[in-house]
Amino acid sequence: MPGSGLEALDRATLIHPTLSGNTAERIVLTSGSGSRVRDTDGREYLDASAVLGVTQVGHGRAELARVAAEQMARLEYFHTWGTISNDRAVELAARLVGLSPEPLTRVYFTSGGAEGNEIALRMARLYHHRRGESARTWILSRRSAYHGVGYGSGGVTGFPAYHQGFGPSLPDVDFLTPPQPYRRELFAGSDVTDFCLAELRETIDRIGPERIAAMIGEPIMGAVGAAAPPADYWPRVAELLHSYGILLISDEVITGYGRTGHWFAADHFGVVPDIMVTAKGITSGYVPHGAVLTTEAVADEVVGDQGFPAGFTYSGHATACAVALANLDIIERENLLDNASTVGAYLGKRLAELSDLPIVGDVRQTGLMLGVELVADRGTREPLPGAAVAEALRERAGILLRANGNALIVNPPLIFTQEDADELVAGLRSVLARTR
Ligand code: PLP
Repeated sequence: MPGSGLEALDRATLIHPTLSGNTAERIVLTSGSGSRVRDTDGREYLDASAVLGVTQVGHGRAELARVAAEQMARLEYFHTWGTISNDRAVELAARLVGLSPEPLTRVYFTSGGAEGNEIALRMARLYHHRRGESARTWILSRRSAYHGVGYGSGGVTGFPAYHQGFGPSLPDVDFLTPPQPYRRELFAGSDVTDFCLAELRETIDRIGPERIAAMIGEPIMGAVGAAAPPADYWPRVAELLHSYGILLISDEVITGYGRTGHWFAADHFGVVPDIMVTAKGITSGYVPHGAVLTTEAVADEVVGDQGFPAGFTYSGHATACAVALANLDIIERENLLDNASTVGAYLGKRLAELSDLPIVGDVRQTGLMLGVELVADRGTREPLPGAAVAEALRERAGILLRANGNALIVNPPLIFTQEDADELVAGLRSVLARTR
């Protein structure tokens, strides 16, 4: 597309997250349907990342466009501050309560994941404050966690690049070791969960349990390529936190709404958090939206007699809520949770076949949340950056996939088929075989 008017305009006007310099070719997308999108030249790409782990039901659903148009014509939007509400927001809140684990009965709407984490952090600190424990301000997070780029959500994001140069981060945050089994150098030869639990205990002792509000974590860490912890990690972490009155915030922004083959990863791990943050798949990205779910106990404190002094203009946006309801209908009607399980298992098996290539270090899969870690050396597991692989995959095979560091992030739409999976694996094999 070099030379097209849109590319020149893009260069002149648009600031792209994470893009350095201004020389790289732009890919200007103009349409999409199912698991495919097309650019201004009419070239078609297989979307193997569901954009950013968002587009559960795939692109180009006329049904969602219709619902949005009808809602906009009726009542496009009203806020949910004070006593005001709207029918769609109430219906969606009730629907989410029905889908999520039982103790999560109260819902706060946002426009995305970072906003959700901002609200979760505010809820956690305010919960303790209103209970007379104002010293509980500390938040525990993990290195390599991604929670968004607000000053709160960015403050608990565990990548140095999200802190350096931005001035003081959120105070009272401590970062723990991420439970990434493949990264054995993190655990000094110990069992992953034992190591993480011992560190958590020491951290709680060091800071003092009476000063800690919450621990936040993604059930499966997305930015490092679908790194799932051992099965006993979350149950043991939750038990320890609760024994000290520390809240558990689960960031299900990627894992929510079917990606793991369950509605929420809480169902996968059998651990219910005190606060669950969701976004992305709630509307499959057709309209920006998010929802924070919490328990009666937390909601009673943060609402209380004084109200929750934290509101977004678009909280409970009627059109976003209507689209979310229709999106959930599609996920249910088309059994996309089952598809995530079966096609996910198939894709995981096919990706594992790439392990005969020396640069493929680890392949991970939970439902349709997958990751591949590239290594320069299998023995030392030295990371090999994946950006060039993602770029070659786009250019040579017409497949869109994101790389972060040495991880290829494979979060396809939940409508992905076995044929799509075969196409992805064939494209990856041809690119990886020619890398290094
Ligand atoms: N939390 C997780 C786990 C995410 O993956 C993301 C985005 O990728 C976010 C939070 C931030 O969400 P948003 O970009 O909608 O603010």
